[in-house]
Amino acid sequence: MSRFLIDRYQDIEEYTPGEQPQNMDQFIKLNTNESPYPPSPGVLAVLNSGEAAKLRLYCDPDCGVLTKKLAELYGVKPENVFFSNGSDDILNFIFMIFCGEETPVAFPAISYGFYKVYAQLHRTDALKIPLKEDFSIDYKDYCGLGRTIIIANPNAPTGQTLGLAEIEEIARTNPDNVVVIDEAYVDFGAESAVPLTKKYDNLLVVQTFSKSRSMAGARLGFAIGHKDLIADLTKIKYSTNPYNINRLTQTAACAAIDEDAYYKENGRKIRETREYTVKKLEEMGFEIIPSKANFIFIKNDQIDGEKLYTVLKERKILIRHFTDPAIAQYNRVTIGTPEQMDAFLNEVKNILREEE
Ligand code: PMP
Repeated sequence: MSRFLIDRYQDIEEYTPGEQPQNMDQFIKLNTNESPYPPSPGVLAVLNSGEAAKLRLYCDPDCGVLTKKLAELYGVKPENVFFSNGSDDILNFIFMIFCGEETPVAFPAISYGFYKVYAQLHRTDALKIPLKEDFSIDYKDYCGLGRTIIIANPNAPTGQTLGLAEIEEIARTNPDNVVVIDEAYVDFGAESAVPLTKKYDNLLVVQTFSKSRSMAGARLGFAIGHKDLIADLTKIKYSTNPYNINRLTQTAACAAIDEDAYYKENGRKIRETREYTVKKLEEMGFEIIPSKANFIFIKNDQIDGEKLYTVLKERKILIRHFTDPAIAQYNRVTIGTPEQMDAFLNEVKNILREEE
């Protein structure tokens, strides 16, 4: 820390991203919930087609073409859509403008680790609501709360979901507060709350191109909600960095939307591989939280969570371990291709045998 950093930022406990090793090809990477499948053929074609030569020019700060396409895909109007540089960027804006000293926030105690960082960064009081014993969220805890509410659905790192009726009840009973549903993993089996945004002007849904659309490295997230909420987000984007979605990402995302069927099929494959992996792990004595995401949250009393993570890493398989004592016995495993999961399962079997 330099002696110039102003007081309010000195104590921030920053987010620790999952490892992104430089020698990536040597690893089976099941630690940051990326898609194991490449972007669709049209995305690759368009990136190689001369768009790069236009990098001399600024990109469209409104993401006009992309906004129209995405609005059509989701059955909303362009005025209901906001894009930013990854959904992390949108969550940051949300904490910046919808949470504060007079508008505290609430989110599940076990959830996406960035929420508490943003709460600290934007100096808002955060109520961290415990999960039920089975790691599910009790929607009733959020009804009539009178705080800004952020819920990941499916939740991370558990993969558990809330139903639409439950989300509707949360939105309905908090009419004077923004309710944010973070749907980073929705395409792997949860129901999207996007249709409810037409009925509730306080409901904001956030999604990403990082997971189901195989574009984590392109950094693209979007929000769908009432036009006034979208206008608020746009105001802040235009007060910080209007050109925050680069030209190549905009072009690639348009091509991805044109090939939606490719991504739906990848989602189906990942769900199938998830069920296969769960079955095999259960046979090995693992406890697995039922997941509707592209990851599973697993533990086995035969081996310490951190040890399993460490030994797998030595054997070039990366999974995600969290140090929070409440979940330290668990590991989060991203669902890869069937071949990657077989390699993972094999190695896990070897490690358990060595533990006996
Ligand atoms: N929300 C959740 C629940 C996540 O797990 C992640 C990914 N780490 C994000 C948001 C952010 O994703 P991105 O910024 O890549 O869109």
